[in-house]
Amino acid sequence: MSRKILVTSALPYANGAIHLGHLVEYIQTDIWVRFQKMSGNECWYVCADDTHGTPIMLRAEKEGITPEQLIERVHGEHFRDFSGFLVGFDNYHSTHSPENRECANTIYSRLRAAGLIDVRTIEQYYDPVKQLFLPDRFIKGECPKCGAKDQYGDNCESCGAAYAPTDLKGPYSAISGAKPELRNSEHYFFKLSDPRCEAFLRQYTSSGVLQNEAANKMQEWLGAPGDNKLTDWDISRDAPYFGFEIPDAPGKYFYVWLDAPIGYMGSFKNLCARQGLDFDEFFKPDSQTELYHFIGKDILYFHALFWPAELQHAGFRTPTKIFAHGFLTVDGAKMSKSRGTFITAESFLNTGLNPEWLRYYFAAKLSNTMEDIDLNFEDFVARVNSDLVGKYVNIASRSAGFIAKRFNGQLAPANADLPAIKAIQEAAPRIAELYEAREFGKAVREIMALTDGANQYVDSVKPWELAKQEGKEVELHAACSNSLNLFRLLTVLLKPILPVVAGKVEQFMNIAPLAWADARTLLAGGHAINAYEHLMTRVDPKLIEKLVEANKESLAPAAEAPKQAESQQRHAQHQQNEVKAESPWEPFCNIDDFMKVDLRIARIANAEHVDGADKLVRLTLDLGNDETRNVFAGIKAAYDPAQLIGRLTVMVANLAPRKMKFGLSEGMVLAASDTTGQTPGIFLLSPDSGAQPGMRVK
Ligand SMILES: [Zn+2]
Repeated sequence: MSRKILVTSALPYANGAIHLGHLVEYIQTDIWVRFQKMSGNECWYVCADDTHGTPIMLRAEKEGITPEQLIERVHGEHFRDFSGFLVGFDNYHSTHSPENRECANTIYSRLRAAGLIDVRTIEQYYDPVKQLFLPDRFIKGECPKCGAKDQYGDNCESCGAAYAPTDLKGPYSAISGAKPELRNSEHYFFKLSDPRCEAFLRQYTSSGVLQNEAANKMQEWLGAPGDNKLTDWDISRDAPYFGFEIPDAPGKYFYVWLDAPIGYMGSFKNLCARQGLDFDEFFKPDSQTELYHFIGKDILYFHALFWPAELQHAGFRTPTKIFAHGFLTVDGAKMSKSRGTFITAESFLNTGLNPEWLRYYFAAKLSNTMEDIDLNFEDFVARVNSDLVGKYVNIASRSAGFIAKRFNGQLAPANADLPAIKAIQEAAPRIAELYEAREFGKAVREIMALTDGANQYVDSVKPWELAKQEGKEVELHAACSNSLNLFRLLTVLLKPILPVVAGKVEQFMNIAPLAWADARTLLAGGHAINAYEHLMTRVDPKLIEKLVEANKESLAPAAEAPKQAESQQRHAQHQQNEVKAESPWEPFCNIDDFMKVDLRIARIANAEHVDGADKLVRLTLDLGNDETRNVFAGIKAAYDPAQLIGRLTVMVANLAPRKMKFGLSEGMVLAASDTTGQTPGIFLLSPDSGAQPGMRVK
């Protein structure tokens, strides 16, 4: 019987690029959804951009555009990247939509009617310069536990302590640098600690909706029975805020995390209107449909506690299952911008790597646990080349040509008793169970074992030798027809992972789109195929080098470029002339040489992150008399742009402008660093007090 299934992936925040870490989840979900659709189930896959909150508002302000313009642009970028990796959403919507506003208002008003919304006055830090209440991550100061400087308002990256922003010593606004003031404000709370929520969540989280490890974590968060550890959730933020204003509370907005999961409903509601689906059939309390959320393990709290409790008490169905996955590591380590392993989806595709290589590799690594998965590049190249090209594609490429040349493109009947064919047909239901259970790694192992079996058959009948022998036409025809039937069956099994390759196979074999049930059938004798076309190339390891390089740094940062070039030059000299000892000092220059460099005091009028650049900060330097320069400086690792605004430094004002990927760089700021690399860090120069922008340094 056909099931009705609604599937979601977590909503990516509209404030940055999609990277390979994100793609683990979307590829995992997409494979599962494609499997469901192939199996004849009615399955809808929806997602959306998560668009609200202070970071979006501030970033739009920095870029000089409206939040609406920002989220529209990012929506386009995200959708392009997901499409590039063949993630087949039925709807990719936005949380900034009328449908989402309607759903958020409905849930809120029903919770309020149920007595689960509370209004309380809280004390919060306020930035008197920017005139807004500061979110925790926008307040910095000294850690109250270990004294580390410049720590965020919620936890210390140095000692790991968690605390309230009001605990910070010497707090300052990360946006303006101003000393924040404590102000009172009315906030709206969802009463998660209410006995009704507690009772529901105790039952719900232990009812099999979660993986065991996640369910155990929930017990920790819930506390032992009789010891309710749930705390109420602050769901409002004060204006100015980019989001939905709370209907009965002017100047108060829903916190971004309130309307993000509701975005699943909003996106589906939008799809329902377009497809003529019945929204209520999927979301009414006694719904017979299934609802699955794929998420990262880091957002379990929101999805396994807040979200089901909201749904339950607002009169909606709760999720059937919540599937959490682990994080992605690259070559055994956390993704790193400096090593070039923080890889964007866009750069992967632009480098010319095939998205189905990554889909296959991730599938081979994925299980239904919350364990992290590793992208090991050497293993990636070896596995794709060996499994997909060497084993799978090879079956077709060794047989198809003979059918075209010798048999007018027509197949002989397949031998249904062939052990390799029977093995695949018998394994198909078991592999279906593995897909259903999200055990993709195990499914891939089984499919590759069957592919080995198919290759053993081809090797045993040797079509290329039969083709050379007189009077072996019948044997050759049978061998190639059996091989192509084996290939078709294997394609059924791989189709959820490799939709484009499967499409090409359907085209060349002249067959209707393959469904899972096609694993039970064989092609009839006389079936005519089309000309074989190349299905997949091998991974060239050079592409991987290119990819890592592309993500390391798009361009050498302005402040470091001359230094780098110089040290490379010196290194080359050193190699050429080994007898000459290398001096750490530059050769003498005369005063005229020095005076050619026009050094000036500059005030950093503005500093901001550069989209897509891992090391660069864009500086607007004020030289006095309305003279400003745009400079890209490679100091992002050492400085938070917000901290730089207003300070004085020294710049080379007559450095020839350089066109960089991100714009024109009109100079260079001076910074010190240890070229031996023993003391890491970049130290921007500052003049003594009294110096004014535009003053010459000599
Ligand atoms: Zn600390």
